[in-house]
Amino acid sequence: MSKLTDLSRTIVALSTATGSGSLAIIRISGKNAIAITNSVFKGANLLAVPSNTIHFGKIVFKQKIIDQVLVSIFRKPNSYSGEDTTEISCHANPFIIDEIIGTVIEKGADHAKPGEFTLRAFINGKLDLSQAESVSNIIRSNSRSGTHNSLMQLEGKLSETIIGIKEKIISIISILEIDIDFSEENIKIASAKDIVDDLKKLENKLKILVEGFNYSKLLNDGLKVSIIGKPNVGKSTLMNTLLGENRAITSPKPGTTRDTLHENFLINDINFKLIDTAGLRNTNDVIENEGVRRTIKAVEDADIILFLYDVNNSNIEREKNLFYQLINKHKNKIIYIGNKIDLLKKPLSREINTDENKFISAKKETGIAELKKTIFFKSAKNFKDYKENIVITSLREKKVLEKTKKSIGKARKSIEKNIGFEFAVVDLRDSLNILGEITGETATDDILKKIFSNFCIGK
Ligand code: GDP
Repeated sequence: MSKLTDLSRTIVALSTATGSGSLAIIRISGKNAIAITNSVFKGANLLAVPSNTIHFGKIVFKQKIIDQVLVSIFRKPNSYSGEDTTEISCHANPFIIDEIIGTVIEKGADHAKPGEFTLRAFINGKLDLSQAESVSNIIRSNSRSGTHNSLMQLEGKLSETIIGIKEKIISIISILEIDIDFSEENIKIASAKDIVDDLKKLENKLKILVEGFNYSKLLNDGLKVSIIGKPNVGKSTLMNTLLGENRAITSPKPGTTRDTLHENFLINDINFKLIDTAGLRNTNDVIENEGVRRTIKAVEDADIILFLYDVNNSNIEREKNLFYQLINKHKNKIIYIGNKIDLLKKPLSREINTDENKFISAKKETGIAELKKTIFFKSAKNFKDYKENIVITSLREKKVLEKTKKSIGKARKSIEKNIGFEFAVVDLRDSLNILGEITGETATDDILKKIFSNFCIGK
């Protein structure tokens, strides 16, 4: 671990977002954090103040006042990283921030690497690896439920579950080992059937956790919604209406949306990623052909497809026939939407709307709330099962859990085949080792490096 961070270094970085704002926080962590901060601070003597206190003063370097600041002091182990830490709260002006960081570096600190504060927190036992990973997910998550989920992980909910599974594996191993010890005396301690049942339960628990990854992906990345249809039917207008802002360019000339655009919107706190596509139309225009290719991909990738047509020029059956080849495979994820109902001579009756067929005016925003409801309920089947469970957020954790499950499955099979408990014990010990990679006890430097390099600097 020391290869990844040299704990003799004191590190510094901006912990808040870059750019101008009212306040910024510069974090300094390590052996000399308090001494270095004190050497550039005019106010209280920071070397003498108690932990968890805040001090008003100035950052001064070579007789020049850089800024008026508040300095928070955290003495180890009572800090985020578990080391002596100071946080300088200054004005969020990029020149001031640069100057303060430069001054602190001049006094002996080093610029922190991505995730280095959290890596130190992990090394110092403030967080386990699963919790450390959740920190970066909290920062990245773009829905409330995704954030809440990562926060639960930071609180240690996943770690608790993993510890529970580990304890169960350990207790099974010890029963098997006692049984092996007594086997020469022909005394049976373990019931093979009970152990197989217990292992099956563990496998099932792991399976549910693995499946939860899809749910967390959904919370964090969102469901993909593609809008398809012929040029000029109102795809970009609908996209803008759903997003509530002017994102895609709309134009009365057919075929103007040549790119695939991505944008997020929330319905009931579920994040939807909207993909606008070029129109579906045979054309010799090279750029548009590329657009058509992308439309096909957008259809394949989508969780929900909004198939838009102009009610004034077409009807649903004609549209379905025209694009039969493209949409036939994806029937279950399509909502057919007749647009531009505001141009109809005769108003539509409300009953014509069904779960599959909606009628709207993207321009006048008629029927949009209804449509959003339908999008939400159509996608609900993707997340209804996971409302209450702990969900894992990283692909790494998913893979570890799958490997653990496989190893436990191997142990179970050798017990079922009656080939001796010794084999099962070996596999169960393996599964314990693998599982340790989630919380970090058995994680290698390579794993740690990969995880922490995904962090932003300052975290
Ligand atoms: P796209 O090519 O499918 O992306 O279509 P656009 O969104 O660019 O819209 C094409 C034209 O139809 C623009 O002039 C829009 O203002 C117009 N339009 C889109 N939706 C409606 C609608 O609901 N009613 C009316 N009257 N015009 C619309």
